[in-house]
Amino acid sequence: MSEMKQTIMLQRAFFGTGKTKDVAFRITKLCALQDSIKRHEEEILSALRLDLNKSAFESYETEIGIVLEEIRYTVKHLPGWAKPRRVKTPIIHFPSSSYIYTEPYGSVLIMSPWNYPFQLAMAPLVGALAGGNCCVVKPSEYSFHTSEIIEKIIREVFREEYVAVVRGGRAQNRSLLDEKFDYIFFTGSPKVGRIVMEAASRHLTPVSLELGGKSPCVVDKTANVKLAAKRIVWGKFLNAGQTCVAPDYLLVHKSVKAELMREMKKYITAFYGEYPLEGEKLPKIINEKHFERLLGLMESGHIVAGGGYSRESLKIAPTILDDITWEDAVMREEIFGPLLPVMEFDKLKDVFAVIEEHPKPLAFYYFTTSKKNEAYAIRTVSFGGGCINDTIIHLSNPNMPFGGVGESGMGQYHGKNSYDTFTHQKSMMKKSNLVDVYLRYPPFKKHLKILKKVMR
Ligand code: NAD
Repeated sequence: MSEMKQTIMLQRAFFGTGKTKDVAFRITKLCALQDSIKRHEEEILSALRLDLNKSAFESYETEIGIVLEEIRYTVKHLPGWAKPRRVKTPIIHFPSSSYIYTEPYGSVLIMSPWNYPFQLAMAPLVGALAGGNCCVVKPSEYSFHTSEIIEKIIREVFREEYVAVVRGGRAQNRSLLDEKFDYIFFTGSPKVGRIVMEAASRHLTPVSLELGGKSPCVVDKTANVKLAAKRIVWGKFLNAGQTCVAPDYLLVHKSVKAELMREMKKYITAFYGEYPLEGEKLPKIINEKHFERLLGLMESGHIVAGGGYSRESLKIAPTILDDITWEDAVMREEIFGPLLPVMEFDKLKDVFAVIEEHPKPLAFYYFTTSKKNEAYAIRTVSFGGGCINDTIIHLSNPNMPFGGVGESGMGQYHGKNSYDTFTHQKSMMKKSNLVDVYLRYPPFKKHLKILKKVMR
């Protein structure tokens, strides 16, 4: 029997003991995970530095801090979430009471990408454990050092029968997908998302697909241009643009375009210095393949800021591309790098129409001071989540679901939504034995008349 099969069997046996259904057990384990992350903070930071050249601040802000917050929030609310919830019962079922119980799925597979390699493996794990599941975590092979520390932490805190780590590339992924899990939580590209869903369908395994795509950013003529420039530059070039919710491209009203471009250049210099390729501020591109792909995309339109790169360090300077059309290569795939293509518009209606013609994005950002325009945009455009007058930050609010729609994915997580994702809601109606209303039993005679009075 393969090692993988054995791990899954061990997990099934452990799940069968009912241990993970105990909320106190889950909380103890989540706290142990929290302690271990804190203890290994330096190692996580150095792994993220090695994989992506992330600064300590960025790593804490977007990886470690988010996971610790997720654990803190989950531990605080879990006892409440796990309680059976009483709901109303229609009069026709009198006398009875109705409850929703949440129950774990069983053994869950979590597959994560390389761009926020720590957060995107650990945050779903927190939800899966909170829900009372056993887990197999498969971190990305590209972010090698972070996967190593993830494995170390998980092995330190959990036995394999509860949480296991599988390392490796496509071959390991494929064999994992051949196995029957009770839930699959996948974060990655729409292309691999399709492969995952197809494999899951063979076992009728439910899936969450956290995918990507081209997230638009719109700046209209009423926007606070200086602030827009600052927040766009921050969101776009965070992690060198390798962020699933990064503003992929910019649509700006022609009357404010010149000012916005000027301000964005100013902020690129303020954030990354005159020579961004030098120094430690700029994260690197994950590998040569993606680096070369991005250099190819950089040939679209013409460069109005940045454009520099270093093959040696795999860094690309924050770059703005102007004179872009929808036919350019940079507009035909998710960029996932520090290149910002800019297009101008005249009529707001046309902008939303063109966004709607394309696959539904994971995020949408709109800079405006007009409440009317804001309401129009939210009503018109379909997308996973987004911000008015900012970028990225919506994902750090645990009170809001995070996930895509259509081509950008299905299912959502963070906070209570993670708990809901990783649990099945079991409906239970409890009937009293004191009275037994004759109405529902045959022969029905005149029952229909009475039934129509009750069920209108
Ligand atoms: P990817 O889809 O290439 O890889 C994700 C995982 O799938 C990796 O573990 C990889 O080993 C595996 N994989 C790759 N090819 C496979 C195959 N043919 N068969 C089976 N498994 C395979 O994605 P990536 O390059 O790691 O990450 C970038 C993508 O992820 C972008 O599209 C980005 O938008 C998306 N993303 C989404 C979110 C989100 O939360 N929605 C977060 C981060 C990244």
